[in-house]
Amino acid sequence: MRHAPVKSVGIIGGGLAGAACAYELAQAGIESVIYEARAAVGDGASGNVLGLYNPRLAAEFGPESQYYAAAFEHALRVFPTLPDIDWNPCGALHLITDDVRAQRFAKMQRSWQGLRMAHLSAVEATARAGIDLRYEALFLSDSGSVSPRRLAYALARSAQQIVQQDIDDLDALAAHDAVIVACGMGSNRFLPQALPLRPVRGQVTIADSPHAHDLKIALCYGGYVIPCAKQGILIGATFKRGQDHETVEDAENTENIAKLAAIVPLLTNNLQISSARGGVRATLPDHFPAVGCIDANRRVYVSAGHGSHGILSGLMAAKLIVDMLQQKEDQGSQALLKKLSPFRF
Ligand SMILES: Cc1cc2nc3c(=O)[nH]c(=O)nc-3n(C[C@H](O)[C@H](O)[C@H](O)COP(=O)(O)OP(=O)(O)OC[C@H]3O[C@@H](n4cnc5c(N)ncnc54)[C@H](O)[C@@H]3O)c2cc1C
Repeated sequence: MRHAPVKSVGIIGGGLAGAACAYELAQAGIESVIYEARAAVGDGASGNVLGLYNPRLAAEFGPESQYYAAAFEHALRVFPTLPDIDWNPCGALHLITDDVRAQRFAKMQRSWQGLRMAHLSAVEATARAGIDLRYEALFLSDSGSVSPRRLAYALARSAQQIVQQDIDDLDALAAHDAVIVACGMGSNRFLPQALPLRPVRGQVTIADSPHAHDLKIALCYGGYVIPCAKQGILIGATFKRGQDHETVEDAENTENIAKLAAIVPLLTNNLQISSARGGVRATLPDHFPAVGCIDANRRVYVSAGHGSHGILSGLMAAKLIVDMLQQKEDQGSQALLKKLSPFRF
């Protein structure tokens, strides 16, 4: 069914997913209004001061990897155009801490396309990191960190208006030609067929130590540590499946630090915690987001379930939805659209 061109879109949710929709719509010349329940955009799962942008590193290059590789490329085009997002393209070292990771990364190097990566010895990895490492590593030179909170804010500025409102019914957005549901764990309220969304609480820890400022690059080892300008380092993140509260827990700071200490003990010597933040990821059982049209008549779309990769995934989902809204011929491969379908469960 072909529709009249869309002029105005209502977006429910002002996190990375919703804010990215406002940005991509503006790029296509389409107006949008963000409806956000909280006092500010980027205050839910997207509210961390820093996050890592990294494709989800599956061993084989299937539709999922195609999505993340395209998302990565797209983000690298968008980030330089946005002000005040604390973008630091410092690169990332994925430390090869066990045989499982060694095999996965070796397969990746053979099968992935369009991603610059190199296998480094422990000596080479140490030189890149600025700190002693005892592991070989997969080096992703184009990876790095950005502030999710500031990114959401910068992207949301493309909206014509940001309205603070807890939406409880799609009819409240009847004035718009189309609606995008991008409200994380709150998305099911608006979907004709519920997604099997599951909350996974997480916490990041910001801390300083005598060696923290030596770190020049992001390190991934199951957890991650990112150089964090004046504050030292950001250590992430815990995974508490089924939990959905945002309260900071001392035990989770301890967990983040212990995990880092097991891999790079030097960074945790005389460590002082300065702050921490808890948030709730919305995840789906196959660790892939739900992106697509959920009601063709009313022109309702969803972008949810971005899990641990919302920085890249939110932006890519927004691009795909805007292509769908514009009824573009090339909206991505059929295999990818099927994998992203909100009706796949
Ligand atoms: C501790 C932690 C660390 C993370 N680290 C990384 C990382 O390093 N890299 C990475 O890529 N990702 C990371 N993530 C994941 C990433 O933050 C999420 O994938 C991303 O923020 C999801 O964005 P979102 O817009 O879908 O959800 P949210 O940011 O939660 O936004 C949803 C918004 O919808 C609003 N809302 C809900 N219901 C309604 C309603 N009815 N009406 C109006 N508004 C509504 C909410 O208030 C909220 O602001 C991390 C997550 C956590 C918790």
